[in-house]
Amino acid sequence: MSIRIGILGYGNLGRGVECAVKHNPDLELVAVFTRRDPASVKILTDTAKVYHVDEAEKMKDKIDVLILCGGSATDLPVQTPKYAQWFNVVDSFDTHARIPEHFANVDKAASESNHVGIISVGWDPGMFSLNRMYANAILTNGKDYTFWGKGVSQGHSDAIRRIDGVKDGKQYTIPVEAALEAVRSGQNPELTTRQKHTRECFVVAEEGADLARIEQEIKTMPNYFDEYDTTVHFISEEELKRDHSGIPHGGFVIRTGKTGWNDENSHVIEYSLKLDSNPEFTSSVIAAYARAAYRMNQEGQKGCKTVFDVAPAYLSALDGAELRKHLL
Ligand code: NAP
Repeated sequence: MSIRIGILGYGNLGRGVECAVKHNPDLELVAVFTRRDPASVKILTDTAKVYHVDEAEKMKDKIDVLILCGGSATDLPVQTPKYAQWFNVVDSFDTHARIPEHFANVDKAASESNHVGIISVGWDPGMFSLNRMYANAILTNGKDYTFWGKGVSQGHSDAIRRIDGVKDGKQYTIPVEAALEAVRSGQNPELTTRQKHTRECFVVAEEGADLARIEQEIKTMPNYFDEYDTTVHFISEEELKRDHSGIPHGGFVIRTGKTGWNDENSHVIEYSLKLDSNPEFTSSVIAAYARAAYRMNQEGQKGCKTVFDVAPAYLSALDGAELRKHLL
């Protein structure tokens, strides 16, 4: 019998989870819940239905894992603990500084209801966190580096769009190649924010807008751009649509370290991602963790978990014997 999946919130990630379910034959999409009018939300799976979010509680016995696809800023802090009352849940909460508080809220709800809630699943937090942890456990005498990009930063793109005279815009975060090479060579460089990443903006301006002022406002914007070398390109609406409508991302997690009695040998651990679609990749990670949430709960586990708490074998559709034969 397949694992019955529900999706709550149908944006980029919701659609991505729907696609990921299609590529995992042991998962089956049962329902999509939305805060909008369900008739206005069109999904791709003919065998699943769209319901208003108020209907979710009634379907608690028809769904094995509910995947929460709302935004981290205001949706997930409320939704994940709320739905952990009735379901095993998985979310991709990515506000790093607020993870301890979110963990405590989900842990309370999931422990009381005997469900498993896996939070902050995706690539960062998620696969990057796991790789940082493995590398730290192995090379205890070393230094960590995380680089992001090349990819679209939603927050920075939103910040550009709020500037007076800007019609639309996209921002890419790009790792500095020289910094990556210095890290890989084992020099353990101390890198400033400016040395690690650059920012590139593609902006569609309103007709007659003062382009020099817009560029200046972007480059000097505190917390977003002022600490980076930023390039601004003004382009047409058609060009933005044609060349910049994707949501690519990725990055590098690197740890370098020394072993031997006198630190005579150096090692580099590197994990990298190059993603055409940030939400579709994130959703693929979530699908694997939904399988884990179901299995762990079947074994009687409960409470909040992160990627650190989930043993790798729970993620795979293959059983232990197959894993040992083919992948060990
Ligand atoms: P999004 O597209 O803005 O969707 C967020 C929510 O907005 C949806 O669940 C949906 O809820 C609502 N919505 C979507 N389209 C709408 C529309 N046309 N009109 C009105 N409401 C709409 O956000 P997303 O790209 O899916 O990302 C969700 C979160 O994933 C982000 O906040 C981020 O924190 C997280 N994330 C994490 C990682 C990671 O590596 N951990 C990576 C990527 C993203 P309703 O259906 O209920 O209206």
